[in-house]
Amino acid sequence: MNRVAGPQPGKIGHWINGGSVAAASDKTADVFNPATGSVGGEVSLGSAADVDAAVAAAKAAFPAWSETAPLRRARVLFKFKELLDQNHDRLAGLITREHGKIFSDAKGEVTRGIEVVEFACGIPHLLKSEYTDNIGGGIDNWNLRQPLGVVAGVTPFNFPVMVPMWMFPVALATGNTFILKPSERDPSPSILLAELLKQAGLPDGVFNVVQGDKVAVDALIAHADVQALSFVGSTPIAEYIYTEGTRHGKRVQALGGAKNHLVVMPDADLDQVVDALVGAAYGSAGERCMAISVAVAVGDVADRLVARLAERARALQIGNGLDPKAEMGPLVTGAHKTKVEGYIAAGEKEGAKLVVDGRGHKVEAHEGGFFVGGTLFDNVSPKMKIYKDEIFGPVLSVVRVGDFAEAVELINAHEYGNGVSLYTSDGAVARAFSRQIQVGMVGINVPIPVPMAWHSFGGWKRSLFGDHHAYGEEGVRFYTRYKSIMQRWPDSIAKGAEFTMPVAK
Ligand code: NAD
Repeated sequence: MNRVAGPQPGKIGHWINGGSVAAASDKTADVFNPATGSVGGEVSLGSAADVDAAVAAAKAAFPAWSETAPLRRARVLFKFKELLDQNHDRLAGLITREHGKIFSDAKGEVTRGIEVVEFACGIPHLLKSEYTDNIGGGIDNWNLRQPLGVVAGVTPFNFPVMVPMWMFPVALATGNTFILKPSERDPSPSILLAELLKQAGLPDGVFNVVQGDKVAVDALIAHADVQALSFVGSTPIAEYIYTEGTRHGKRVQALGGAKNHLVVMPDADLDQVVDALVGAAYGSAGERCMAISVAVAVGDVADRLVARLAERARALQIGNGLDPKAEMGPLVTGAHKTKVEGYIAAGEKEGAKLVVDGRGHKVEAHEGGFFVGGTLFDNVSPKMKIYKDEIFGPVLSVVRVGDFAEAVELINAHEYGNGVSLYTSDGAVARAFSRQIQVGMVGINVPIPVPMAWHSFGGWKRSLFGDHHAYGEEGVRFYTRYKSIMQRWPDSIAKGAEFTMPVAK
């Protein structure tokens, strides 16, 4: 039974100190329903004053929350998880309405977020420290992991529930207070998450939401009371956040863009490969940082592969994400649709073979929707813009290579290193691939190897700036400071001052 009122369509504001607040600035942006192209809401664009108010609330809440026993913090998260289960469909509905992805995919997104809450519920265990008895004469040594203080998360449009939940469950469980700056394209789920946290018993001020754009982000970067920034989004902004955040003395993890390859070895099961590629390239209209956008066809597999892919790309069921028959929804905005179509034109101009063209795709009764059909290019070369850039749309490029070594070399030379996949039936090839490839997340016969919550998520090269991957134990480390304590009691203290380096006795 669901008693949370939830955000109303229309105005989408901030959430500060346990409730909705009027924005200090009257700047707003339109929020679209991508399936129809109509404006479904208006989001406040936070000012520095809104950020100040959120940071002040989070700072005031920190002493009590950080002193709350981890077990009690975990109990709030257990309750939150129960509420997420009850509100699973509502959250997914908000995602589909503002992002456009199909409802079943939105439900999957919520599930992957819930898993991080389940991980964070184990925080009493995760914060257990190491202890060495009698490390020196009468001295014991152990370590603590203590929270940082006020921390902030800046998140992208493509996972408005899951990506914030890569961050705040772990940040809150470890005793920090949190400010979320969600994407201005699909801001409504953030407010429902805030309401559910409050209903779960989270004290006011521990979790806050400031809606907005660059203005709010810059205010978070510059704010002296924000200790750490987690960012997920495109590479240019990730690099900016990392550079500016660290310049302001903050701890920063900034996850960026991607160009993910799937290598098809000649011995791979082609039925499995085609299913994997169609789902991973066209699922969520390609708007996933772990989407496969390049199929690397090794040896003689390419002709068979392209023929099968073309058939499937043409047959995709494209429609409103709320239509249960739809396999793929629209892109997030009209501007993004124009950008993706521009890449398709550029690919053709650069000499790639456009096998299936998704431009101009129309969906009945949704003429204003931001739809692009499944698109397939063959004979793509590494010099082309459609190979180098992240398109972030339903566009799959096939690159033909001679052998396995050429495939590895191609992928390792790319500036991004988020995810990668290999399809083969040869264990030795799989082992060599996972050891040699310069990419953070590797799938062997798994198309989208997003690590489960008990592991950690992050790419290499220009897909991640910073030292820590997201969630899992890496998340616990990111949101805590390591402290080492040495203790000795008077009856074991030697008489007299010591002027030499202390060593174990
Ligand atoms: P984006 O970089 O445009 O925006 C991300 C966030 O940054 C938003 O909250 C936005 O308001 C803010 N922002 C935008 N411009 C800014 C600026 N100039 N200064 C400060 N803040 C700014 O990304 P997006 O379009 O929302 O999301 C898609 C991108 O995110 C893709 O590149 C995708 O690969 C990436 N992504 C990466 C991962 C990952 O884990 N590596 C996961 C999801 C998405």
